Amino acid sequence: MSAIHAARSAYEAMPQGLKRVAGPLARALPVRVRYGRAFASTRAILAERAAGRLDEDAIVRRRLAQLHEAAMRTPLWPERLRSAGLETGIPAPEALRALPLLTKEEVREAGDALVDPSVPESARKWVTTGGTTAAQLGLWVDRDASAADWAFVTDAWSRVGFRLDEKRAVFRGVAIGGATGRLTRYEPLRRELYCSVFDMDEAGLAAIRRSLRRFSPRFLHGYPSVFETLARSYRLSGERPPRLEALLCVSEMIYPHQRELFAEVFGCRVFTFYGMAEKGAFAAECEHSAELHVDPLFGVVELVDPGTGESIDEPGVPGEIVVTSLITKGMPLLRYRTGDRAQWAEGACACGRGMRRLAAIEGRWGREALVTSSGARIPMSAVNVHSAVFDRVGMMRYVQERPGFAELLVVPREGFSETDVRAIEAELAAKLGEKVRIGVRAVPAIERTVSGKHVLLEQRIREV
Ligand SMILES: [Zn+2]
Repeated sequence: MSAIHAARSAYEAMPQGLKRVAGPLARALPVRVRYGRAFASTRAILAERAAGRLDEDAIVRRRLAQLHEAAMRTPLWPERLRSAGLETGIPAPEALRALPLLTKEEVREAGDALVDPSVPESARKWVTTGGTTAAQLGLWVDRDASAADWAFVTDAWSRVGFRLDEKRAVFRGVAIGGATGRLTRYEPLRRELYCSVFDMDEAGLAAIRRSLRRFSPRFLHGYPSVFETLARSYRLSGERPPRLEALLCVSEMIYPHQRELFAEVFGCRVFTFYGMAEKGAFAAECEHSAELHVDPLFGVVELVDPGTGESIDEPGVPGEIVVTSLITKGMPLLRYRTGDRAQWAEGACACGRGMRRLAAIEGRWGREALVTSSGARIPMSAVNVHSAVFDRVGMMRYVQERPGFAELLVVPREGFSETDVRAIEAELAAKLGEKVRIGVRAVPAIERTVSGKHVLLEQRIREV
């Protein structure tokens, strides 16, 4: 694989002009080469399933067996598995219920005691949990899991007409232009037009609308909060938006008022799924329904009573989502508490997939935004930094009193120093530049809000 990695890195380093030539040529290469082996093998399994030729239960059992083997190699899991009577194996998803729930705090404290030592560090990737409502948690996921995850995502998108390499405009927390001031960047390899979500003031939105007109994407992919800003700008300007097949929403749950707005402005299908940085579960909408179909090949999903930990199987009863990942094994997550809430949907879905469906997921709302000096709103999902600079920080909260500046309050963990303050400020400055300057201040504690949630941003600027 190293030749492929080298080729990919070489492509990434190419100047834009060369990419435009190399990208279309590279698109002729097999999927396995361009997206990696894990993507290709997962995609093949999902295609088999779609064709009705897959023994799904057998694959789930095999993955549970591999997960069990990995867990038994870690320092922490053998004792827990033994106490639950699972030292010889996990015969079926339901058998997991004998295990106690695994909290984020336990994951944090256990650290490497949760890691399978036979997996080399090069095969793992450090990620931090997203979300706007809690302290960040860092953990390891298998390097392959991202590619497999992408196969599940694109498979789900195919339910609303997406095919691999179809023109897609991407609105996520990716810094675009740097010093050039450009607000969009085209990636010919995957036919993606990256659009800045950091410059959505009036002038920025007008420039992005121009780029979209030229590019004429079939799909927009990004945060609902950003699409809301974009949709409003189309409505105000009176310009016609691109003719879309679907709006592919990620990272934030969609508010009902956003669905209405998108239907009015874009007039296309709005599609979303539930996933997470920890790669614990995947559940997506289908052709017929906005309920989230839990994919059993990705992970085992349970709902439990957050107080008692009792399993909830009946529809309509709210509970916490608990996941056991079947696609990342280097740091086995068995019965991991996500902190998100949902309920099981009633009855069967018209699509006939027979998957259990989640309805009414709560948590991870993304309405919060920082306000730049020019009045643009930057969604917190984009500000969220997935890196190790927050590792020595407990709770944190942004407080903004005036446009263009915000303070980041952090509760230090052991070993936190002035070096961490500078690292955090540098990381945020690289993302936000002069648009919103962030000052970091250590505080002894951060209070919860009235609802008991940890809000990431306390926005004191009114009417934003
Ligand atoms: Zn369905």
